[in-house]
Amino acid sequence: MTENAPATDVMVKAEGIHKFFGRLHILRGIDLEVRSGQVMCVIGPSGSGKSTFLRCINHLEKIDSGRLWVDGHLVGYRQRGDKLHEMRESEVAAQRRDIGMVFQRFNLFPHMTALQNIMEAPIRVKGEPRQVVRERALRLLDQVGLSEKVDSYPSQLSGGQQQRVAIARALAMEPKLMLFDEPTSALDPELVGDVLDVMRRLAQDGMTMVVVTHEMGFAREVGDSLVFMDGGVVVEEGDPREVLTDPQHQRTRDFLSKVL
Ligand code: ADP
Ligand code: MG
Repeated sequence: MTENAPATDVMVKAEGIHKFFGRLHILRGIDLEVRSGQVMCVIGPSGSGKSTFLRCINHLEKIDSGRLWVDGHLVGYRQRGDKLHEMRESEVAAQRRDIGMVFQRFNLFPHMTALQNIMEAPIRVKGEPRQVVRERALRLLDQVGLSEKVDSYPSQLSGGQQQRVAIARALAMEPKLMLFDEPTSALDPELVGDVLDVMRRLAQDGMTMVVVTHEMGFAREVGDSLVFMDGGVVVEEGDPREVLTDPQHQRTRDFLSKVL
């Protein structure tokens, strides 16, 4: 297995990933690589396994076979000599800290202000000093264009503003990798742009990102690669402009003809 370990500039490597839910075979051999600093966009019909794949990267689901590396480390396993040992909970938690995830639903803590939402994990999980975290949180709120909303509660924010707080909250943990699962799908159309702008700037600043999205404009402009998943496999992967304008597979063509 060491001979298949990813090159040092690879942030995520998936090799032959299979995932079952009971007897349902959901991921059927996923092979993918995301290089550091790159943005991979993932599209595909509902039920094709996109969320499950992201959740496997972030330890929210356990893979049944295959190998998954994040930042050179085997997800969920530790290697001693040539033997693999399953990680303890605490080690899994440590691995997860390096990965930020943003969901379709913003999941902010309703009883906390925007600032408190962002400060929570670095203080509670990482035990960082409050003042350091506060300064970072204020900087992040500025970065997502919400400096005036420091003291607002989620219920006082629009969906788009809540999602930008959710992004800032994930970034507060200083992740190496950001996973986005349809971050704009639940938003009113006029609120989508601001969220995509934040993500675009994050990409420009060099963040490694895997983005499940149906925003084809974003995929085309920001994505370094575009993956089309269907039925638990990667049907097609390539330069977003090429995949979108000249898909090589009939399944990709059928899907794109419905969404474009
Ligand atoms: P996508 O994000 O592409 O819409 P998902 O990864 O959410 O697809 O789901 C893929 C399939 O796995 C779906 O058929 C879904 O019903 C099933 N599935 C997802 N999570 C679970 C679960 N926890 N238990 C059982 N089935 C699940
Ligand atoms: Mg999904």
